[in-house]
Amino acid sequence: MTLRNVARLPVHTGPAGWNAILPPAPVLPSLAGEAGCDVAIVGAGFAGLSAARHLLAEAPGISVAVIEAGRVAESSAGRNSGFMIDLPHELTSSDYAGAGEAHDRVLTRLNRQAIDFAESVVADYGLPAGFFKRSGKINGAASTVGEQANRSYAEHLRQMGEPHEMLDAQAMREVTGSVYYTGGLFTPGTALIQPAGYIRGLAGGLAARGVRIFEGSPVTAFESGGGGWTLTTPAGRIRAARVILANNGHLESFGFKSGRLMHIMLNACMTAELPPEALRALGGRESWGITPSDPMGSTVRRISTAEGGNRIVIRQGGYYRPGMQTSAADLARVVHGMRRKFDRRFPTLRGIPFEHSWSGHLCLSKNAVSVMRELEPGLYSACVQNGLGTTRGTLTGIGAADLALRHNTEITRFFLAEVEPALLPPHPFDTIGANAYLRWKEWQARAE
Ligand SMILES: Cc1cc2nc3c(=O)[nH]c(=O)nc-3n(C[C@H](O)[C@H](O)[C@H](O)COP(=O)(O)OP(=O)(O)OC[C@H]3O[C@@H](n4cnc5c(N)ncnc54)[C@H](O)[C@@H]3O)c2cc1C
Repeated sequence: MTLRNVARLPVHTGPAGWNAILPPAPVLPSLAGEAGCDVAIVGAGFAGLSAARHLLAEAPGISVAVIEAGRVAESSAGRNSGFMIDLPHELTSSDYAGAGEAHDRVLTRLNRQAIDFAESVVADYGLPAGFFKRSGKINGAASTVGEQANRSYAEHLRQMGEPHEMLDAQAMREVTGSVYYTGGLFTPGTALIQPAGYIRGLAGGLAARGVRIFEGSPVTAFESGGGGWTLTTPAGRIRAARVILANNGHLESFGFKSGRLMHIMLNACMTAELPPEALRALGGRESWGITPSDPMGSTVRRISTAEGGNRIVIRQGGYYRPGMQTSAADLARVVHGMRRKFDRRFPTLRGIPFEHSWSGHLCLSKNAVSVMRELEPGLYSACVQNGLGTTRGTLTGIGAADLALRHNTEITRFFLAEVEPALLPPHPFDTIGANAYLRWKEWQARAE
């Protein structure tokens, strides 16, 4: 069969901060020479590793290999903000509400399955308790626009029968130590994870149970034939009866869904360890997570020694890059903006430097659907996680594993019922249009 080349490999700008604050991880081998397995998974993120775990659970004795381009937890898995959110979290809406009440109810139930799955990983593989906390989250508001978005979302939650609590400025100060927020909307179902710690622990648990994980092994070409698939990396080839692509937006680099995937770069900064006097001046709780009331605002987390240090992590709204990369100049510009936002929220911490700044890639579709299906015989996809890749990635990974095993489950039925990602305008109109829209939305949400 014809060999198909992979058009683009992941390139990261800045370190994955969550990974950088953990002790160094042992380097895993690269794929070298010829190898074989029942199922090969491309990508060691939430989707790929969840697929591997589910395969082991459902088909004991199956041989599984995970082929990762870089290091485990260095890609978006170690770059995200670590919110595993149970509720609708539609980034393209003005208040996160999704495609309607019935759809949101099912998605919420499935998201909770993903969070339970992550909790079972922590228990079964002995991860530190600080890497997964069911602490809930707050949608913080700092303007009338933000407060209105919170009220609108609270109404949606009321209709769904979901518990939530409105917080006033005083309550927000008690949590965050900051007088910046004028209000908040607390929902209890979110788990806050140390994303790199969780992914490393999941990879370690799988490796201990016989899954072969190859780092530094970008898949550069692939082909089908002889009832299976062969993946080529710079130093090796692996043959598998079935392959799961769990590489999110790089699905397009493999030649699928071209012109239908929106590649958004998000950036984040993490402070240096806060010294005791700064912690005293800040006050508030030692660990919390705020998502912005308007999806285009800033996410902020305060973490403690249990997650790798007393620090604050801030993430800013995104921009569209079909090339799936951020330049160093783009990142420097955004870091400047994040510093301003940080100083406004935490004036007592003005002198504390950002120790790590990074950019990461997430993949949306215009109509907020994923691509979890059999693309060609024996080739499956667990990709396009939209704004909630920790949870959605876990679900699409489990779903793709089920598809590969020919299991019909609530997860497979949900994703198989989704339509194709909507077509985008051609280049460069997609980029110009999307960035103009994102800048306008970001400006509207500038206080958030
Ligand atoms: C700053 C930021 C904040 C975010 N915050 C949140 C949040 O709080 N909550 C949330 O749910 N989501 C968040 N996200 C999104 C989330 O990180 C992603 O959606 C999620 O990581 C997707 O998981 P995944 O397993 O599908 O893909 P990834 O984590 O990207 O994993 C895919 C893997 O495939 C590998 N790969 C790609 N091409 C190849 C190849 N050719 N060969 C071999 N390997 C390959 C990559 O190296 C990568 O490791 C955030 C993202 C960013 C950037």
